[in-house]
Amino acid sequence: MPHLMNTYGRQPVAFTHGKGVRLYDEDGRAYLDALAGIAVSTLGHAHPDLVHAIADQAARLLHTSNLYRIGEQEALSDKLAAISGMDEVFFCNSGCEANEAAIKLARLYGHHKGVAVPGIVVMEQAFHGRTLATLSATGNRKVQAGFEPLTPGFVRVPFNDLAAVEAVAAHNPGVVAVLVEPVQGEGGINIAHLDYLRALRGICDAQGWLLMLDEVQCGIGRTGKWFAHQHAGILPDVMTLAKGLGSGVPIGACLAAGRAVGVFKPGNHGSTFGGNPIACRAARTTLEVIERDGLMQNALRQGAAICSGLRRALQGLPGLREVRGDGLMIGVELDRPCTELVARALQGGLLINVTVEKVVRLLPPLTFSDADSDELVTKLSALIREFLGA
Ligand SMILES: *Cc1c(COP(=O)(O)O)cnc(C)c1O
Repeated sequence: MPHLMNTYGRQPVAFTHGKGVRLYDEDGRAYLDALAGIAVSTLGHAHPDLVHAIADQAARLLHTSNLYRIGEQEALSDKLAAISGMDEVFFCNSGCEANEAAIKLARLYGHHKGVAVPGIVVMEQAFHGRTLATLSATGNRKVQAGFEPLTPGFVRVPFNDLAAVEAVAAHNPGVVAVLVEPVQGEGGINIAHLDYLRALRGICDAQGWLLMLDEVQCGIGRTGKWFAHQHAGILPDVMTLAKGLGSGVPIGACLAAGRAVGVFKPGNHGSTFGGNPIACRAARTTLEVIERDGLMQNALRQGAAICSGLRRALQGLPGLREVRGDGLMIGVELDRPCTELVARALQGGLLINVTVEKVVRLLPPLTFSDADSDELVTKLSALIREFLGA
């Protein structure tokens, strides 16, 4: 037995290498990757431009320190600002760290305004990470259970429910921010209505709150725009990124605009590894390839093909609740727990995920081709039909 802490229920497979949208196991068997390591492998596996950039950077400089200027970090911050309209970036190494930065920023912002006990509005079914503050912000008891006392300072409301946020505004004077995923990933691919996001922007402006968007899963081109909130034509005050940003190299980011700019001062926050040259080079290359190869347009095209293909193949099936998607974030909700579909798909050479027990979740690389989408629809619809006994 390997000497690993028992934190994951793992599938009985180990991959040795990958190429494009395929992974290969120790016996040389190929799998179609419709999960991308949970929305991480944006460019698929062993993308030649990314391989070259990482190798080149490794031969130059892996790490210095945030005690010095870092050219690659400055260049990446410029690129992120240009594509997002945000003003400042703090770099870290993961999604939970990006959200920790956002939570700390909101609290400091509140204290600067003279709020003694600043609160943050968070959503039911939200997922923001596994550190103590982010699991407290998460709207899932399974993530929290056993780790009490939870971090205080969060006010929870139902997702996509504007009246609930308005009620908080009327009754909770200490609130200073709203934290929300434009598309809830772990929560089951729940898509925020664009009018809801616009109205949240309005409430935050009226109240002097920070609108903080967790785009750790839905950002970086996956929904057909760089960032999912851009479909609503709004600009947040804070946005967090991670997963797909480095296409497999760990990197997270917390971006600020408007009222959130200039809140942190030297000494308020930091990270040893955050924004080091190798991670920033990987992220910059990922963004360049997305742009150069039209991968956002491709995410829209493949997402539409997969959703319509699955709807057609599963139409009228008792047990199917809904097929929903936003670009290449796709959920197939069934009326019963279906976690065993993950192992069945694996046996059939297909990598998928099931979240909240009843939602098959698809997060393919943005490099999926028409043929890959066809193959996914064919294999997955057969598995679901068989599972539902249809
Ligand atoms: C995965 C995820 C996180 C946590 O990211 P880690 O890198 O695992 O810490 C936070 N928010 C959202 C929306 C996520 O999907």
